[in-house]
Amino acid sequence: MDFERPKLTPPDGETKVLLHSCCAPCSGEVMEAMTASGIDYTIFFYNPNIHPKKEYALRKDENIRFAEKHNIPFIDADYDADNWFARAKGMEWEPERGIRCTMCFDMRFERTALYAYENGFPVITSSLGISRWKNMAQINDCGVRAAEPYDGVKYWEFNWRKGGGSSRMIDISKREEFYMQEYCGCIYSLRDTNDFRISRGREKIKIGTMYYSEDKNAEE
Ligand code: SF4
Repeated sequence: MDFERPKLTPPDGETKVLLHSCCAPCSGEVMEAMTASGIDYTIFFYNPNIHPKKEYALRKDENIRFAEKHNIPFIDADYDADNWFARAKGMEWEPERGIRCTMCFDMRFERTALYAYENGFPVITSSLGISRWKNMAQINDCGVRAAEPYDGVKYWEFNWRKGGGSSRMIDISKREEFYMQEYCGCIYSLRDTNDFRISRGREKIKIGTMYYSEDKNAEE
């Protein structure tokens, strides 16, 4: 499957990028687009929000598998879930896209920006914004805020959905038969997604059972 993509240019003409990745399906298109543009990038996997640990391992392993296939360096950062829960305290009933999610993006990007600063990456960005379930402006605000304290580190506010990015994301996920997560990631999004499914007469999520394939899609 060959895709036509415009050439990408990171801010200030930089060619080295630290890509915060949330999962293989979201980062697949971002990775292939950066590779096609000759960008020298490294994946930074820092997602202490993902619950339970079994789901975290599934998402991470799938991302490692794809990074190895493309020969892309993969930084496996901490799973400091206790810190995530401490920061989420009091926000347990916030809706998706609300203040809990701002905290969650802040936490993940703060660590990404710090790693970039300490390891000579002038640009950071994230695969999170490619999902149409997410608020792009909220993600970009968090990214810019995280990079702001560090001289020489900038957040790349690129809209990965545009120019066919969203459909390529699905095409790549099917081609690679990626593990398909069925909720955003945290324990609260798991609870709320299950409540919604039950209200529609559907079964609860069974972790580790859904994979993309040519006859399945993310709308199910
Ligand atoms: S719903 Fe998603 S973005 Fe929001 S707090 Fe949970 S894992 Fe983070």
